[in-house]
Amino acid sequence: KKIGAVEITKTDETVNNEADPDKSNLAEASLLAKIIRKGLVENKNDIEIQRQDPKSPLYSIKTFEALDLNANLLKGVYEMGFNAPSKIQETTLPALLADPPQNLIAQSQSGTGKTAAFVLAMLSRVDVTKKYPQVLCLSPTYELAIQTGEAAAHMAKFCPEIEMKFAVSGEQVPRDTKLTEHIIIGTPGKVLDWGIKFRFFDLKKLSVFVLDEADVMISIQGHQDQCVRIHKNLDQNNCQMMFFSATYDQEVMGFAEHIVKNPIIIRLKREEESLDNIRQYYVRCKNQSDKYHAITNIYGTVGIGQAIIFCQTRKTAAWLSAKMSEDGHAVAVLSGDLTVDQRISVLDRFREGKEKVLITTNVLSRGIDVEQVTIVVNFDLPVLNGKPDCETYLHRIGRTGRFGKSGIAINLIDSEETMNICRAIENHFGKKIQLLDAEDSDEIE
Ligand code: ADP
Repeated sequence: KKIGAVEITKTDETVNNEADPDKSNLAEASLLAKIIRKGLVENKNDIEIQRQDPKSPLYSIKTFEALDLNANLLKGVYEMGFNAPSKIQETTLPALLADPPQNLIAQSQSGTGKTAAFVLAMLSRVDVTKKYPQVLCLSPTYELAIQTGEAAAHMAKFCPEIEMKFAVSGEQVPRDTKLTEHIIIGTPGKVLDWGIKFRFFDLKKLSVFVLDEADVMISIQGHQDQCVRIHKNLDQNNCQMMFFSATYDQEVMGFAEHIVKNPIIIRLKREEESLDNIRQYYVRCKNQSDKYHAITNIYGTVGIGQAIIFCQTRKTAAWLSAKMSEDGHAVAVLSGDLTVDQRISVLDRFREGKEKVLITTNVLSRGIDVEQVTIVVNFDLPVLNGKPDCETYLHRIGRTGRFGKSGIAINLIDSEETMNICRAIENHFGKKIQLLDAEDSDEIE
């Protein structure tokens, strides 16, 4: 069965964060970032390469042609609209495709092209004449596995002979089956069941093992142990290990070094967000309905671009969206009470521009790299335990150097207390937050 045709049924393995639903967990944040971005994050930082083996074939390529890819794979790459390799692809792909195979640990922030890099390597390593699983990719959650599978199916569009299978919850295989698909993409629990308990495939015969989203993986209870158990059953000498993560702290490093022997380690430092290109304002309001009034004034001036409005609670977000909808505005709401599918659909619509305003809580404070968003409004300033939450402020409003365009941030102030928070944030960043007269919208145009 082709991977693109897999039905999305149950999501038992989805991690819920019931205790603090608005504080989205890592897996969810990673998924949402993928959905909303759908484009490459350019990173201007230098790449750091550590070679364990100085003889390893490590050079970088500037074109996809230089990789000696199978012609149909190359066609798939171009079909996806990729003209040239991204920075992380440029340096990892030669190692990933090297002969003899080379183990690799790679770290770069999400959106920089890691998935495309290892998917290309996975597809390149398949021997279609062998009718058994040769490549295994572990993802932390059902949804992330599906994302990777979709990227793989897309890239393999002109390689119909390559077959893939999802090992995720909801997928069922009759007892005593021997899988014939070349590639398995799955979550650790299901892969353990299929590979070890039911022996639907032979882990010893794998020639490529990919561990994706390692930092997310270890944030989920039990997943790290399961990965280690799977890893133990691989042919350590003949299976190429590829390890990917968006971050690389001590814990991830320990995990990586346990899984990947003699690796090349490639790291790309995250681009820092800054407030440099952002004009920041505050608007004095008397109360919540006055804030609403300010919002509608601002809304009237958001020309071509789009706006995101942050509220501190879901209740405020719901209230604001109801009120704006009543007044005939097309607004979207994204908050912690939506299912993952609903969130994806909200974000997809917003990215396509179907709604000009997105109202949200902190669910979305990271990864709002939607280029057309010109205005960010803090309906409520970010606070944590009553104190100004400068980090969240930066994530909501800040941008990395990749956007030449400048942005506008507007903070709505309805009490002395919030004014003090606003001043504290201003001092913290050393960047002026100017008074804006909401009645005089010319100022922000
Ligand atoms: P990561 O795994 O690091 O989060 P992805 O591989 O998912 O990043 O890539 C992020 C986005 O950029 C995806 O939408 C992908 O299709 C796109 N992309 C990846 N590589 C390229 C490339 N070389 N050129 C253009 N777009 C790319």
